[in-house]
This record gives sequence, C-alpha cells and structure tokens, in this order.
Amino acid sequence: MSPIASEYVVTPPAIVGAPIKGAEQLFPVRRVYCIGRNYAAHAIEMGHDPDREPPFFFQKNPDNLDFSGTFPYPAKTSDVHHEIELVVALKAGGTNIAIEDALAHVYGYALGLDMTRRDLQGEMKKMGRPWEIGKAFEHSAPMGPIVQASEIGHPSTGRIELSVNDKVRQTGDLNQLIWKIPEMIAYLSEYYELAAGDLVFSGTPAGVAAVEKGDVMVCKIDGFDNFKVAVI
Ligand code: MN
Repeated sequence: MSPIASEYVVTPPAIVGAPIKGAEQLFPVRRVYCIGRNYAAHAIEMGHDPDREPPFFFQKNPDNLDFSGTFPYPAKTSDVHHEIELVVALKAGGTNIAIEDALAHVYGYALGLDMTRRDLQGEMKKMGRPWEIGKAFEHSAPMGPIVQASEIGHPSTGRIELSVNDKVRQTGDLNQLIWKIPEMIAYLSEYYELAAGDLVFSGTPAGVAAVEKGDVMVCKIDGFDNFKVAVI
C-alpha cells in the first residue's frame, strides 16, 4: 500500500482554537504575548521600581494554552504561582499601530492565568538568562472563553480578583494598568508584526503566590463570568 500523499514529513501540529462565549466557532491562536510588571503594586512585590519604565514582553507558546479549567501541577518546580490577567485577543494586526487606532484591532477579551514556575524564573533572573523555563511550559496558560468586544466593550476599569479555595489572594482594578491596552498594542507593534490570532496577557495585580495540587483558583473580572481552574 502506498502512503497517503502529504507535503509534510510528520503530522502537522493542530491549530490552537480558543473558545468564544456564545459562539460555535473558535478563535485561532497565532502568538501569545505577555507583558511583565504592569501593575505598580505587583512590580513592588517583585522588588522593582513601579515607575513607568518602558514595558517589556515575553511569549508563551499557543499550545501552552489550556481551556479545560484544570491545571496539572508542572514538573521541576515546588513554587508555581498564579497570575490572573485580562487577555486581549486581536482580530487584525500590523506594525506601528497608533494608540488611537489600537482598539479597532481587538476581537475580544478573556480571563487568563500566567502560571509561573517562580523558582525556575528566579534562577534564570539571577543568571541573566531567558525566562522561558519559568513561563512557557505545558498548560502554563489556562484561559476562559473569549468575550467579543461587541458584547463586553473595551474594559479599562473594573475589579480583577483571584481567590484560592475561597480565600482572596490577588486584587486590583483594571484602571491600575501602568500601560493601558491601546498603549500595549501600539508598543508591541513597534517591535513585532502583530496579526489576527495574537493574544496579549496584560499583566497581573499584586498578591501572586503558590498553589498546590487540590487547590481551586477562581478568576474574576467585573463583567465576565468567573473562570474556575482546579490544580490537579
Ligand atoms: Mn504575568
């Protein structure tokens, strides 16, 4: 028997599709950008000056996203932290996007978690090495369904909160973002060519801390359905 003709030597990886609230179709993910230290109180808790320095970004891999509401405790860490974040989903991209045009590129928003192997990240920081091993690992980006901007608007204010086992750990307000969503998109587009399918995790408020197997995290942002994630 002859093999099925294919232009690829192995099976191509699947496109990662993020669920959309109230829709059957999925949002195809291209890249996952994350901004660091974007709430003053979190910058301070991590030992940094909260002044408005230029933003910095790192990336997770699209297949690090997990929409199942579970977070398998990762390998090679004993200090994995939750970081609740508002996630921005882009429907269009480009370079050098003007701040005033940025929101026209947004498809919608979601609740997300930038789960972090803090011990590994800390070792890399100390050695001046890249953070990937602390940030971009399997299941490191649990995410709730995307809510279309046509439904939720463009949230710039509202409580953001994460609790673990019914105890509040992280709290803040979207109006405390050091770099606002339009500024983040404009800035990123100076360094990268953004495109439809890109996600941007917008940073986390203060209160990051470790989770253990068996914990249940509940993410809340005003206007969104709560997003619950069990650590398994
Ligand atoms: Mn983060």
